[in-house]
Amino acid sequence: MPIRLFGDPVLRTPAEPVVDFDAELRNLVRDLTETMLDAPGVGLAAPQVGVGLRVFTYHVDDEPGHLVNPVLALSGDEETDDEGCLSLPGLQYPTPRAPRVVASGFNMHGDPVTVEGTELLARCIQHETDHLDGILFIDRLDKKQRKLAMKAIREAEWSGEPVPEIRVSPHSTQRIP
Ligand code: ZN
Repeated sequence: MPIRLFGDPVLRTPAEPVVDFDAELRNLVRDLTETMLDAPGVGLAAPQVGVGLRVFTYHVDDEPGHLVNPVLALSGDEETDDEGCLSLPGLQYPTPRAPRVVASGFNMHGDPVTVEGTELLARCIQHETDHLDGILFIDRLDKKQRKLAMKAIREAEWSGEPVPEIRVSPHSTQRIP
């Protein structure tokens, strides 16, 4: 699936909770996983492929996973490390994040799951959950870094490309034969 880039309004739109744990959701998780591994990236949230649902996938330490309707508990003093995003290709900036996270949510079958993460996994889970709230990592930067990021975005070759249509229904994840 094509990955939506910065400037696409879907990335700024809070996603809706998943209500139906059905075949369409499983297709969405499969498509997200394939798109993420293909990119390659360590995480991908549904809004990044134009689907406004609270779902993301991750792939950290060779351990692929996904989470639906995540709720996070953060702990520890913020740590700053370089972070990037598939929706802002080629850009990386030091981003503060909590070093530990406990994420509660559901798997694609509707079973409750808890994912505990530190370091990269903790960072990834916070980054992807932000996407579900319409928040991008550049929003978390300090003033100076954010200024650098906005300048780089204006100068990026992908910046200002035409924005594809927003799909708000999970039905749009169905393939047309
Ligand atoms: Zn991202």
